[in-house]
Amino acid sequence: MIIADCHVHSDFSSDSKAPMEQMIEKGIEEGLKWICFTDHMDYDYPPVSEYSFVFDPEAYVRKINELKERYKAQIEILTGIELGLQPHLSDRMAALLKSFSFDFVIGSSHVVDNMDPYYADYWENRSVKDGIYRYYESIIENCKAFQGFDVYGHIDYIIRYVPGQLNSPVKMDYSYAEYADILDEVLKTIITSGKGIEVNSSGLKYGQTYPHPKPEILKRYKELGGELITIGSDAHRPEHLCYSFSVISDLLKSLGFKYYAVFILGKPVYERL
Ligand SMILES: [Zn+2]
Ligand SMILES: [Zn+2]
Repeated sequence: MIIADCHVHSDFSSDSKAPMEQMIEKGIEEGLKWICFTDHMDYDYPPVSEYSFVFDPEAYVRKINELKERYKAQIEILTGIELGLQPHLSDRMAALLKSFSFDFVIGSSHVVDNMDPYYADYWENRSVKDGIYRYYESIIENCKAFQGFDVYGHIDYIIRYVPGQLNSPVKMDYSYAEYADILDEVLKTIITSGKGIEVNSSGLKYGQTYPHPKPEILKRYKELGGELITIGSDAHRPEHLCYSFSVISDLLKSLGFKYYAVFILGKPVYERL
């Protein structure tokens, strides 16, 4: 059983209404040893929606510290963050991480070339293949610009936002081979930077047959020498905590992974799958 959910949102993220207490209580019910909050911090998020994806880090850390104390007999609460990476934000993100002590930092791509691929403007004037390719390229650019994260989040989640996919009951699949050159470079860049990747079960929640990233990418990551993985549900609501973790556990074991990591004060602690 996977006993840590290391990608959890609360109402500190503008796209979640769940108080931290509700997520924690659900975590206790699920038998978790650790729950790591990783609320969204996306500096310079384009003004395309009512969402800002920025929170007050002081209030965030204070609240988590209070809850750590209150629930310490039942569960260990970790202070994480999901940073929306963009190359020009490196100094700002480094300053944030210097001012506050986080257990765990997920680096994610939510914005590419100042556009969120969730919205149509990203896909205008480019083919699906070019849009996906550009997304992967930007991961490499982000890794070169900033090394303050521990794992790269949901590497292939762009697939969810390919035009027509969002509301489609039939989800697209894609083959590793189609993007092998750029994906190999993405994985090698992450590995040589000493970083890991996360296995994010939210793909399954969105009706895909695979998590993010898909098994082919996990397999290739392992072949290239990648070992460091964390596991998270990306839950924005309590009912999605630990989503399909038994499926993830079986999948990782079938691919030959033996351990997953839980980051505490920036250092990985390994748990057997
Ligand atoms: Zn994300
Ligand atoms: Zn997230």
